[in-house]
Amino acid sequence: MQPLEVLVYPHPALRRGGQPVTVFDQALRDLAARMLGSMYEEVGCGLAAPQVGIDQKLLVLNPSGDESKPEEELTLVNPKITKKKGREWDEEGCLSFPGVRAEVERHIDITISYQDLTGAAQTLKANGWLARVIQHEMDHLEGVLMVDRLSTADKLRVRPELEKMEQRFARS
Ligand SMILES: [Zn+2]
Repeated sequence: MQPLEVLVYPHPALRRGGQPVTVFDQALRDLAARMLGSMYEEVGCGLAAPQVGIDQKLLVLNPSGDESKPEEELTLVNPKITKKKGREWDEEGCLSFPGVRAEVERHIDITISYQDLTGAAQTLKANGWLARVIQHEMDHLEGVLMVDRLSTADKLRVRPELEKMEQRFARS
């Protein structure tokens, strides 16, 4: 299966977010499988459809980032947070911001409702790192990026790196 290109900041598709998925067909399953392949190839632990230029509310993740642990893979379609508790700051990265690491505040405990690849309704409780990865990827579905959520100090710290990316994108 051909890997998908992961779009890098400031590609405008990253700001478009995703539309609700309404068709649960083989093409959707193929897309999810290709997204997982790209995620492992880029050494990430989550990838949302807008990051590969597809405006659908679909994301894949594996909190371990370890391809040999497929039992930890999750594919979430049309996810919604239905309960949330607590907040904490911790470090994150993003495949659309290569080399950028920064602390982001997320809910510690969440409950989400979502659909699986067959369209069946599911619920999931998550906490800690898994909850963080889910919230990060769900932001992508709304066109929100981790750099939007940084402390003022970190926004200043990463500014030169973002400017480099903006220049590279303008030249490409
Ligand atoms: Zn990301």
